[in-house]
Amino acid sequence: TLRTRFAPSPTGYVHLGNIRTALFAWAFARHHGGEFLLRIEDTDQERSTQAAVDVVLEVMDWLGLNYDNPGDKLVYQMRRMPRYKDVLAQMLADGRAYHCYMQPDELDALREAQMARGEKPRYDGRWRPETGKLLPEPPTGVKPVIRFRNPTTGTVSWQDGVKGQVEIANSELDDLIIARPDGTPTYNFCVVVDDIDMAITHVIRGDDHVNNTPRQINIMLALGATPPIYAHTPTVLGPDGQKLSKRHGARSVLEYREEGYLPEAMINMLARLGWSHGDDEVFTREQLVEWFDVPAISASASRFDPEKFAWINAEHIKRADIGRLSADVQSRLLRDGVIAAPLCAQDWARLMDAVVLYRSRVQTLVQLAQEVSLFWRHPQVSDALREQHLVPALGPALRDFCNRLAQCNWQAGDIAAEMKAVLTAHGLKMPQLAIPVRVAITGQTQTPSVDAVLWLMGRDPVLARLEAELQ
Ligand code: GLU
Repeated sequence: TLRTRFAPSPTGYVHLGNIRTALFAWAFARHHGGEFLLRIEDTDQERSTQAAVDVVLEVMDWLGLNYDNPGDKLVYQMRRMPRYKDVLAQMLADGRAYHCYMQPDELDALREAQMARGEKPRYDGRWRPETGKLLPEPPTGVKPVIRFRNPTTGTVSWQDGVKGQVEIANSELDDLIIARPDGTPTYNFCVVVDDIDMAITHVIRGDDHVNNTPRQINIMLALGATPPIYAHTPTVLGPDGQKLSKRHGARSVLEYREEGYLPEAMINMLARLGWSHGDDEVFTREQLVEWFDVPAISASASRFDPEKFAWINAEHIKRADIGRLSADVQSRLLRDGVIAAPLCAQDWARLMDAVVLYRSRVQTLVQLAQEVSLFWRHPQVSDALREQHLVPALGPALRDFCNRLAQCNWQAGDIAAEMKAVLTAHGLKMPQLAIPVRVAITGQTQTPSVDAVLWLMGRDPVLARLEAELQ
């Protein structure tokens, strides 16, 4: 079975770059009918928190990046210590790894001497056992590290799904420390053991890990395993081409949910960061799964563009189910205190109509909630707008309109007909009446079709608002 994984380190918030990696691995697995596993890389005990794990899980749940861990049990590296120690013991026993007693001050001295000679600093293999080599007596009271016995000759290479053929001379790699003096395994070692035990066939991860890959492959080969296929995805940059940071909206993915971005829009936008399918800009999660594959991942860094994201979100809002949008908007209205309790059936129908009317005019659900709130909370009409549009000369026409509205059949078509009648009777052009009415009713000069807005508002509130402006 094809099997990928997402292996977050739960040390902070989840930003767009992190979750883009997860999305690629997930989409790849789903496209090929394989499995997608989740592993929590929590060996950095100082910085890892359960709260950060929970955020990862919440983001994945929100985006629908479902995983296939057997029994839904996550793999936590900290719970696998006995397994790592077993593998370390086996490697020590047969010479694939060895104890090194070199002290930090000795390492510093070595490094300085090498740099003074213009060499690249590297461990000199002094504790590496070789046939015929006499090792010094281990110093007493010194706890050794464990080093991996890296091959000294030849090369390590792989065909990267994104970067193509990569090849490193083994002479460039020194004997990696795989366990600390206290016996705890180091990061690269745990990853290798996990990828083997989880039978990972494809590793899709950020290219900040590309330097680890030759080391991981060598350890993997030493353990008799077949290395997975690697694909290292390029960095996600901010709009200014700099590393993504909080200042660019590399905020927690969940903040976008707060702001009213739809999960399918988030998936769509993330997928387009470094991957494309022809000219398709707006697509569903199902289409992504159908189309996604590694060869179409771009080899160059991509830029996160907040404006484009807003545009993509707007496109998905236009396509989303009305009931679902309305439920989201209702919860925002409740939270903002615009409504005090869940809407009754009649108001719910009105909310759905309002969502239909306004959804093509907004980019986020926060904006949508703001727009439709006018049907429940009387908007303030600014003095400036009032002075500009609700001029005294308009009084007779507005009065006439009120009288007609008080009697007409309350349907958008009838309301529109009454407006026309007022225009004719008072010699006005449509905007001369429609804009002041909009201002009086909504506090804004631009709204969807004014007859539809009036109809949705309801006869009594409309008359009350118009009357108030006529005082
Ligand atoms: N835990 C690593 C990270 O968060 C991922 C390592 C990997 O995918 O191999 O960057």
